[in-house]
Amino acid sequence: MELAERVVVVTGASRGIGLAVARRCLEHGARTAVVARNAKTVAAVAADLGDAARGYACHVEDPTQVQETVERVLADMGAVHALVNNAGITRDGLLARMSQDAWDEVLGVNLTGTFNWTRAVAKVMMRQKFGRIVNVTSVVGQMGNPGQTNYAASKAGIIGLTKAAARELATRNITVNAVAPGFIDTAMTESLDEKARDSLARQIPMQRFGAPEDVAGVVAFLLSDAAAYVTGQVVNCDGGMWMHS
Ligand code: NAP
Repeated sequence: MELAERVVVVTGASRGIGLAVARRCLEHGARTAVVARNAKTVAAVAADLGDAARGYACHVEDPTQVQETVERVLADMGAVHALVNNAGITRDGLLARMSQDAWDEVLGVNLTGTFNWTRAVAKVMMRQKFGRIVNVTSVVGQMGNPGQTNYAASKAGIIGLTKAAARELATRNITVNAVAPGFIDTAMTESLDEKARDSLARQIPMQRFGAPEDVAGVVAFLLSDAAAYVTGQVVNCDGGMWMHS
């Protein structure tokens, strides 16, 4: 799992799964760019993570901010070897009552954000003839979930984007894979009450929610040389919720 000398960008790294991924990359020797919306937050997170981390404020849904951030990372760190598209939000509601804003916002951050970063970084990786991209999707993009048509569509879209980009970039030694977490204990799931958690846990063969570190381990594998011949895949990290051939 050695990532020494690699520069890894992790979006949505101020907390939760993204922070666990950034921490794991640093443990494996990578220099890591920590991206989230608020400049003060990312500066504090990067300072806490140590000298090999740097913070960048960027709204992933804004292509201009993404391009500028890629240029700043290149100027500061010299390369971008790996990208983890992890920033994501939910704005749940039943289909018939879902506002246009809730649809646009979730698709904008989750899917367009992933596209913006992948497009900007692909150009750098094509020049380098090396790259690793991991997109964080969700089991909900595979199974669906009532109250999450916007989120499920954005996460299913990420799977399509992953496979198409993997086919385009394979000859340049750039792999593109997705990780599909199930229910993970983070801010995103903390609003669930005890009853809802118990009922969800019963649907999971392992009968429990995962930890951000569980997802970080799978992402670190896909970024590493151990996964050099793996591309266009969706790796589930969900306690067995979704099993498919
Ligand atoms: P989280 O704790 O809410 O963290 C989300 C991260 O995204 C934060 O760092 C947040 O930072 C950042 N972010 C939000 N909007 C952003 C924007 N417009 N531009 C840049 N950064 C933005 O969520 P999480 O549970 O760790 O989720 C991480 C990823 O895993 C998401 O893609 C999520 O869909 C996916 N996932 C989570 C679960 C789960 O059960 N938790 C399951 C399946 C998939 P700021 O607010 O500081 O900007």
